[in-house]
Amino acid sequence: MPIRQNPMDTKAFKRSLHQSDKYFRQSFGHGDDVAGQMQTEYNSGLIQEIRDHYYTLTRGDVTIKLAEAFGFCWGVERAVAMAYETRQHFPTEQIWITNEIIHNPSVNQRLQEMNVAFIKVINGEKNFSVVGQGDVVILPAFGASVQEMQLLNDRGCTIVDTTCPWVSKVWNTVEKHKKKDHTSIIHGKYNHEETVATSSFAGKYLVVLNLQQAEYVASYILNGGNRNEFMAQFANACSAGFNPDADLERIGIANQTTMLKGETEQIGKLFEHTMLKKYGPQALNDHFLSFNTICDATQERQDAMFKLVDEPLDVMVVIGGYNSSNTTHLQEIAVERHIPSYHIDSASRIGPGNRIEHKQLHGGMAVTELWLPDGPITVGVTSGASTPDRSVEEAIERIFAIKANQVLV
Ligand code: SF4
Repeated sequence: MPIRQNPMDTKAFKRSLHQSDKYFRQSFGHGDDVAGQMQTEYNSGLIQEIRDHYYTLTRGDVTIKLAEAFGFCWGVERAVAMAYETRQHFPTEQIWITNEIIHNPSVNQRLQEMNVAFIKVINGEKNFSVVGQGDVVILPAFGASVQEMQLLNDRGCTIVDTTCPWVSKVWNTVEKHKKKDHTSIIHGKYNHEETVATSSFAGKYLVVLNLQQAEYVASYILNGGNRNEFMAQFANACSAGFNPDADLERIGIANQTTMLKGETEQIGKLFEHTMLKKYGPQALNDHFLSFNTICDATQERQDAMFKLVDEPLDVMVVIGGYNSSNTTHLQEIAVERHIPSYHIDSASRIGPGNRIEHKQLHGGMAVTELWLPDGPITVGVTSGASTPDRSVEEAIERIFAIKANQVLV
């Protein structure tokens, strides 16, 4: 388990780190070179063509409908570009990444080919013993915990921080909660890297996964409850020494940036009403803090997905890493609408023949044969914020090939 207790002054540490000449969080000035390289490796002519035709393309029996917002978000593109620039800027140094730079297998593979190594996890712990003084260490788009930053700084590493500014905004929010002695209620997955990082900057915190858990906490605030049961439910999802009877009197809301936007908003409103009910309007500001920290890119992709699933679709394909939270949420939207939907992490999951290997929403991998129906079909396609257009193109080409074969048979 990651170390969660955090007695250090995280704000002061961050300030001193930012002044260090071994800490970088801006471009090294190789942006133009890298942009060309990324264009060649990740962009797609086919996807541009579909974009130019109002997100629709028909070939033979297949009509592809692309979501109007999908794929690489600004924060991911920036993180990957910074990683490429780091390689150029430090051509001979050993370079590490504390985690996958983003949740996409092809991008991570490409970085490994560039001799950028990942810190391995052994028995649930990251093995930082491999990192030496003078090595360059990249922090990924979803950030790193303050303890990891401190360890790397103490070891004399050069740190290239690609943390997305939207994620940093959440960290600043939990710092504000801490300053006012409010407990941060974080809507997220307690073991997701971004939430691990966010909670490392918080003082007291509690991570709630969904509205159901939030309702349980809200009821505890209003009516009390069984403390042992509460602690059993949130054993891994709260700060050390958390006491639900004392630590829920003043709360603030924060979120993992890739959660379902509507749910984050509902949870925020639920706690606002709860504190209003308990303390009244005059005292609300002393007991409840909320700042808007929902990332625009997540919001746009989810909104585009809601629009897409309103159209008549025979099948939906969602492309993105299996550990990508924002991709899973896109899949969730299709499943809720009862559209046959397949979450794949790369085009190689499609075929041979009319079969697809995919990840089930709340389960493991499955194989579906004859997943593309006979005759004319409309296929909805979207991808998570970590997925390059090239991966989407490959998946679409495989769909076209399967349907072309059906016609020939
Ligand atoms: S999804 Fe949002 S928070 Fe996450 S990297 Fe992209 S822009 Fe940043």
